Amino acid sequence: MYEQIERIPADKLVSLQEKRLKKIINYAYSNVGLYKKKFKEAGLRPDDIRNIDDLAKLPFTTKDDLRNNYPFGMLAVPMKDVIRLHTSSGTTGNPIVLAYTRRDLENWAKLTARCLSVIGVTKNDVFQNMIGYHMFTGGLGYHYGAELLNATVVPAGSGNTKRQIKMLKDFKVTAVHAIPSYMFHIADLCSEMNIDPIRDLYLKKGIFGAEPWSNTTRERLETIFGIDAYDNYGLSEMSGPGVAVECEYKDGLHLWSDYFLAEVIDPISGERLEDGKKGELVLTTLCKEAMPILRYRTRDITILTNEECSCGRRHPRISRLLGRTDDMIVVRGTNIFPSQIEDVLLKIPGIRDNYQIIIDRDVMDELTIKVEVTKDIFNDEPFSLLNLKNRAENELKTVLNLKTTVELVEPQTISGETEKTKRIVDLRLV
Ligand SMILES: [Zn+2]
Repeated sequence: MYEQIERIPADKLVSLQEKRLKKIINYAYSNVGLYKKKFKEAGLRPDDIRNIDDLAKLPFTTKDDLRNNYPFGMLAVPMKDVIRLHTSSGTTGNPIVLAYTRRDLENWAKLTARCLSVIGVTKNDVFQNMIGYHMFTGGLGYHYGAELLNATVVPAGSGNTKRQIKMLKDFKVTAVHAIPSYMFHIADLCSEMNIDPIRDLYLKKGIFGAEPWSNTTRERLETIFGIDAYDNYGLSEMSGPGVAVECEYKDGLHLWSDYFLAEVIDPISGERLEDGKKGELVLTTLCKEAMPILRYRTRDITILTNEECSCGRRHPRISRLLGRTDDMIVVRGTNIFPSQIEDVLLKIPGIRDNYQIIIDRDVMDELTIKVEVTKDIFNDEPFSLLNLKNRAENELKTVLNLKTTVELVEPQTISGETEKTKRIVDLRLV
């Protein structure tokens, strides 16, 4: 359905990007006070930014910029042209407000439709959208994309898991959108309800996101539900989900660069990094009307590549997220991302996907990892628990180069039904 734009030749994509970049730069400069100010401070005129290389001259936009302009300081259009508002899930102070014109919503639906179409969703699918609606962009974002593809949409939202399972079964749902850890909760309840996810459900594919997840989690999801599990990426500041998605090769996520210009920078120096280097993803919206955002620091750590993908789609790929700049924990001088810990833990049989990293300081920083184990292991003899603990501690030491304490706990001690698990508890700050 979106073949033409997905397979646009590289030179055509670049000229489309540059045309849109010049337009959005002028538009943001003329309509958003913050950008006029940023350009002036940097001694720049809109005409100074003519191509993607020039973009590096522009100052970044940060989360604080958006927060400081609460609620409507970032708007480039009069309020009468705004037809929807969302907010980010700010836990302290003002949230970030996201505004959309009608065209913004149409473009957003096209983007999520493109993502769903890449993973094979068609009008023949029944699509259960098991993610928060309301102010969170995850639910409504994919809702309209799936409708655009004429799939049958079940707007389930989050929570009420037994009802979710009943609908999955009775409506013969073939495709889902969910948070990966929620699917494990579904699997737990399925076994309580005597439902075999492969025999009794009809699932074929799922698109997952809103929390970092590893390839090991993917394998587990695929085995438990008999599905193809795909990663996708998005953030409210760019509209919501629909920025990037994995193709059938599952080797990085294609980032729709006719709508978003991607750069990767060194999070400390702010210098732009070349292709293939790990750093912070910076995005520029190329088409947004209500809230154009230039060089937005996403705080997500990834690797960008322009190398051609085996699928033939020409849009560059970002690697699955390697962490967030805010999540990077420095323990005894070592940089650690929770994803590294998750990768180690999930490869060990008997360990579940729920874990919590606790950092405390006694004389030195101490890293404790609380992790749920499967029921059978917990009921086993004490020595098998000890073996599991030793194995986890040894394997973590090899990867992190750091001694940790692993604490094994019973299933569902850490997980909640709808709340995202708080992965990191830093008691050094208390
Ligand atoms: Zn591909």
